[in-house]
Amino acid sequence: MLSNQTSVTTFFDSMENCPYDARAMANPLTDRALPAQLAASGQVIETKGKLSEFPRLRMLVEADLARVTRAKIPQKWRDAPIDIRLAFGWADVRRQIPALEGQISARIDAVCQRCLEPFEISLNAQLKLMLLIPGGDATAFEEYEIWETAEDTVRPLDIVDEVLIMAMPLSAAHDDSAMCGPLAKKLLTEEPGKVRPFADLKSQMRDPN
Ligand SMILES: [Zn+2]
Repeated sequence: MLSNQTSVTTFFDSMENCPYDARAMANPLTDRALPAQLAASGQVIETKGKLSEFPRLRMLVEADLARVTRAKIPQKWRDAPIDIRLAFGWADVRRQIPALEGQISARIDAVCQRCLEPFEISLNAQLKLMLLIPGGDATAFEEYEIWETAEDTVRPLDIVDEVLIMAMPLSAAHDDSAMCGPLAKKLLTEEPGKVRPFADLKSQMRDPN
């Protein structure tokens, strides 16, 4: 399904990443850990990622963009920046319930439902979660949302991936229908302002004085 060009782009993207991507070192975003370990260490993760690192969000965006012709797909959609700040701690004073607070924001490419043109949307999510491992105690605190983990350990990246998917709008569309449509439409509405100097010149030239 992917064209050769797409593969080449991906290859160079990953080459570019190498100097900055410390895969050999422990990466708190991708390492598995017990929520209680993360809470006890007060782990803070502050990082900038790319859409390509979040497999489920990437699949969703790819499926969305597949609805437009290949020429219209923004070439760098996989590089969409993801800003992440996560802070692990405890939800309760007795230090029994691991909590995760943070902020995630991203600007990703989506397809407008009205005009089927790609455009950028912002995703923003505020996290205030109680992490409950399977079989964990479900004492709820009002200010926290319960986040049930599938396993005893968590990968912070998986949580970010899921939070971003939940932050995706059910249907994306330009804020204003006036912004919809191809670029040509936009140029047309700008045209009168641009031609006015010539119109003025013309009327001056017709004026015998
Ligand atoms: Zn639109």
